Amino acid sequence: MTIETILVLNAGSSSIKFQLFKGEESVLSGQIDGLGASAWIKGKSAEGVTIMDRALSEEEAQNHNTALQVILALLKEFDPNLEVDAIGHRVVHGSSKYSAPVLVTEEVAAELETFNPLAPLHNPHNLAGIAGAKAAFPGKPNVACFDTAFHRTQEFKNEAYAIPTKYYDEGIRRYGMHGQSFHYIAEELHNVAPEVANGKVVVAHLGNGASMCAIENGKSVTTTMGFTPVDGLAMGTRSGLIDPGVIFYLIENKGMSAKEVANLLNKESGMKGLSGISQDMRDLENSDSPDAKRALDYYDNRIKRELGALVAVMGGLDAIVFTGGIGENSSQTRAGVCKGLEFLGVEIDEEANKARAKEAITISKGSSKVKVMAIPTNEEAMIARQTRAICEA
Ligand code: AMP
Repeated sequence: MTIETILVLNAGSSSIKFQLFKGEESVLSGQIDGLGASAWIKGKSAEGVTIMDRALSEEEAQNHNTALQVILALLKEFDPNLEVDAIGHRVVHGSSKYSAPVLVTEEVAAELETFNPLAPLHNPHNLAGIAGAKAAFPGKPNVACFDTAFHRTQEFKNEAYAIPTKYYDEGIRRYGMHGQSFHYIAEELHNVAPEVANGKVVVAHLGNGASMCAIENGKSVTTTMGFTPVDGLAMGTRSGLIDPGVIFYLIENKGMSAKEVANLLNKESGMKGLSGISQDMRDLENSDSPDAKRALDYYDNRIKRELGALVAVMGGLDAIVFTGGIGENSSQTRAGVCKGLEFLGVEIDEEANKARAKEAITISKGSSKVKVMAIPTNEEAMIARQTRAICEA
């Protein structure tokens, strides 16, 4: 089956992001925000022409099904003769079962429902997007592309927690996230830096959510995220790695409920909690407050600690790649992380590092043993690529 046009959907709790691909090329993108309340749709062509920019009616904003009908109308407005051949969906959790994308049959859809407890804030909405797409595009193939799939190459020693193995068998494992982004970067390295593409690479995906991955020969060796997206680095509002003893203490001595602790660690911590100012890197970089400076210093230091661990597990380092909103744009973060890593063979070119990564840039000196780059990620392109591969197989 030849697949020409692919719609990529990333359905969240109150939003649906969408992007339309013809071949490898993105021709249209947009999103609906505010589902369930006062929702709005925005969509523009790759050339920047606005196709739709309006509020949804109460009826249209009810749920993912009704919202997808609006996306359908937008697609018709963009191109009245448009035929969507397949729909690729971002699904956060594929449990330990899925190490690759899957065509969503009735049985698969039922099975995916059973993964909801593993990612309660994400998976149910991703599945609502699939159900909506089935109604909006009857008979067209839907492919689930998992954020966790890329990390299923991890060995037991990197995937397990040191608790009785019956919990591992039940699925309490370090699944890892941001797989679409890491996979995209691993493939993109063959185009932009083929000399390191099969080597030992640490990729730092630094966005609102953030994680790092040790990639050897294009495969995930290990990653900083674990069972849920709260693990690992300090993020916009998530704490990252924390001694579980702190959680026991908060519950037993501060009278907090499990739900309150979850809220604290997911929504009130990270850069927001450390700075007391903002979760947004730009606000912190523009602030003169010593609290902002201390939070930024903390952020870089956490990345550095994890980098050391990832390099040690791989037994070497050929390249570091920064990506995500912060990795692509914040020269200050990149410089802060790389400062002091000369002993690893990292030499940063300060001039080159000033640039934003609109496309792949090298920020290390020619003499640097370790190549350091910033590469824009493209999770949607990865999902479109995987969707095509599954449908054409
Ligand atoms: P993402 O989740 O990948 O969209 O990334 C969002 C993060 O990128 C936010 O913390 C932004 O503050 C950060 N970001 C975007 N642009 C810049 C910039 N020019 N400098 C520093 N941080 C940026």
